[in-house]
Amino acid sequence: MIYLDYSATTPVCEAAINAICEAAKYAGNPNSGHKIGFISNKRIEDDLNKIRHLLMLSDDMEVIPVSGATEANNLILRGAFERFYGRGKKHIVTTNLEHSSIIAPISDLQARDAEIDFVKLLPDGKVDIDDLLNLVRDDTLMVSIGCINSEVGIRQPIEEIGKILKEKHPDVIFHTDATQAVGKISVDYSNVDALSMSAHKFFCIKGIGALIKKKDLIIIPQNKGGSSTTKFRAGTPATELIHAMTVSLEDALENMKKKQEKLRNLNIILRRKLSEYPDVIINSPTDAIPQILNFSYLGHNADAIQRFLSDRDIFISTRTACASREDMSQTVLKLTNDENRAKSSVRISISYKTTEDEINGFMKAFDEYTKIPK
Ligand code: PMP
Repeated sequence: MIYLDYSATTPVCEAAINAICEAAKYAGNPNSGHKIGFISNKRIEDDLNKIRHLLMLSDDMEVIPVSGATEANNLILRGAFERFYGRGKKHIVTTNLEHSSIIAPISDLQARDAEIDFVKLLPDGKVDIDDLLNLVRDDTLMVSIGCINSEVGIRQPIEEIGKILKEKHPDVIFHTDATQAVGKISVDYSNVDALSMSAHKFFCIKGIGALIKKKDLIIIPQNKGGSSTTKFRAGTPATELIHAMTVSLEDALENMKKKQEKLRNLNIILRRKLSEYPDVIINSPTDAIPQILNFSYLGHNADAIQRFLSDRDIFISTRTACASREDMSQTVLKLTNDENRAKSSVRISISYKTTEDEINGFMKAFDEYTKIPK
């Protein structure tokens, strides 16, 4: 098989499986008041500190383990809104390129009196920072902008946005959904108040991720219950999964430079080969992350392309897996305003494990598809 859907999820690495088995040897509940409880608790503390160091985050940030980025996004949006609404903060600024786990909670909050603004995008899909600054008001609670759009791979200038926003409006919470960035590219999060991540995007098991936030940013927990290692999410922490997340992240970040170089080369090969087809338009800007390449094969339905390839054990995606029932890519539609392009767009997402042979195998099958009489 040829797997080219790494942005949807990744295969579990051996290091993650070994980490789960290793952590499972420790029976203690990290919330227990006895010696093995303390050991368990300390192991979590060490893992979370390591994650912080791996992402080069300062000491004033804390890592809250959650089930994944959907939960992290819900926790920061709802948790901050519930805490600050009564203090006159109910305005949220975001983009219309966000993942459904941002858009859905925001829509819920709108029904609870939140006011939402979508910042203008420049022609290349990046946030218009002047427009963003114009939108911020006295009652702005949060600016939430994803690092990397999962469908076309646009990288937002998080560093620049954070710097300018914090200079002008230090009280506004700056959150970034970093799900498609963590473990793949390096980002400077020093001007970010909160970020969401998900471990299954970097070769870990599904069901674990984190909300990382400034320690002094108090939000209302959404999972209420008994005390835990963090007061922001009740329940017994998943010791084994947290350890697997830490080890997978360490693994993913190793030899980053070499991995990036390989990815860039593969991306160039794909772009070059695809551009030989006159009806192919590449939707990912040239400075998108090399892991994601989105293109439209004009006049052809994206689902039909996906099915044809899937029948040959080649796996790509037509849009983000979480929105796969919508009948066209909303991101491509928003970026191009062209329904035909959105209906015929497919996403190839590669990882450092992808080989040139796999790219060639995909291109061979795609070429066969282009030769089928319409
Ligand atoms: N945000 C982005 C940008 C994503 O790509 C995804 C996963 N497709 C999520 C959030 C949700 O992550 P999870 O699957 O961990 O809930």
